[in-house]
Amino acid sequence: MSNITVCARFRPLSSKERRDHGDGVCIRCIDTETFILKDEKEEDIMFSFDRVFCEKSDQAEVYEFLVLPIVRDAVNGINGTIITYGQTGAGKTYSIEGPGILECDEQKKGILPRVVDGIFEHIKPDKMAKYSIKLSMVEIYMEKIRDLFDLSKDNIQIKESKIQGILLSGATEMSIIDPAEALQSLSAGVANRAVGETQMNMASSRSHCIYIFTVQQELTGDKRVKTGKLVLVDLAGSEKVEKTGAEGRALEEAKMINKSLSSLGNVINALTCGSGRANHIPYRDSKLTRILQDALGGNSRTALLCCCSPSVFNASESLSTLRFGARAKHIKASPRVSCNEDKYAKKHEALCPDKDESCKRIL
Ligand code: ADP
Ligand code: MG
Repeated sequence: MSNITVCARFRPLSSKERRDHGDGVCIRCIDTETFILKDEKEEDIMFSFDRVFCEKSDQAEVYEFLVLPIVRDAVNGINGTIITYGQTGAGKTYSIEGPGILECDEQKKGILPRVVDGIFEHIKPDKMAKYSIKLSMVEIYMEKIRDLFDLSKDNIQIKESKIQGILLSGATEMSIIDPAEALQSLSAGVANRAVGETQMNMASSRSHCIYIFTVQQELTGDKRVKTGKLVLVDLAGSEKVEKTGAEGRALEEAKMINKSLSSLGNVINALTCGSGRANHIPYRDSKLTRILQDALGGNSRTALLCCCSPSVFNASESLSTLRFGARAKHIKASPRVSCNEDKYAKKHEALCPDKDESCKRIL
């Protein structure tokens, strides 16, 4: 069993924050793991996460600490999930996509293009192993799952398979043969997201965006197929409805978002409350928690990036984001190699060669 990795990231103050609310920041980093948030009542609250990325931290640092170990495992058949959480404008999409998927500035590149490079760097096709990489991209809006590679598929259903875990039935799976092709597909998916937004008159911050890479490794000579699923989740903004003053449709959207994010919170609570009896985990309360079922408490290595504004104006939202992260820190998951023959933990030893570090860690 391993805990999920929880990190906090504070973006630089925006020019709007400076203009409207001054230069005041509510965050003080103590070291690479510990930081203090000054809340609205001017009280200091100390947090200790696996890592804190302060405003000067760059995209490469976030990728190397939080994501790279999960990418390495995914190409070896271990599922991984990376989730960004926080209020709108806190830096979730910037962390995942960067300023743009096809961004050329190496320093600014987000997690997604780095994941693409990472997957292709770590797979080693040879006589013994053949790889296939597939990519799906969906969005959850008002509790409906939409395929971002095919907008006509606007009500994708979730299925569960004993071996493959949670599946999106009928969602487009793009076969990816090189990094350039992967980036083109991702960029097309992001553009489709914008088309859908206009059609439905919503902002991207009102939906959850989910990217799924499936890396399949076929070992020639025997019949084993290892499958690693790497899921990236750019969550909808976690801000409180009251603060946004939403009405009408915007209020309905906000309620749906609150419902799915609070069901995510409820799943985390149920997983961490530690009551002796086998307690019910309410994964089925929302599409989001159902899709993340494997990631939370199941067969996946999971990392949560809590994105925050450093502005004193946003101190209460940042505090609620960080409290969410602090609770999530206690979840335990048991990631394992997903193999076509692999159903039970006792088989793992036989499936994983001794020298395979990523396997040893999880046994
Ligand atoms: P969210 O997806 O959480 O709503 P965004 O990622 O869109 O927020 O970020 C809001 C704004 O802040 C964007 O203009 C983005 O470019 C900027 N931003 C976010 N994080 C950073 C960062 N670490 N460094 C520089 N700019 C950032
Ligand atoms: Mg966003």
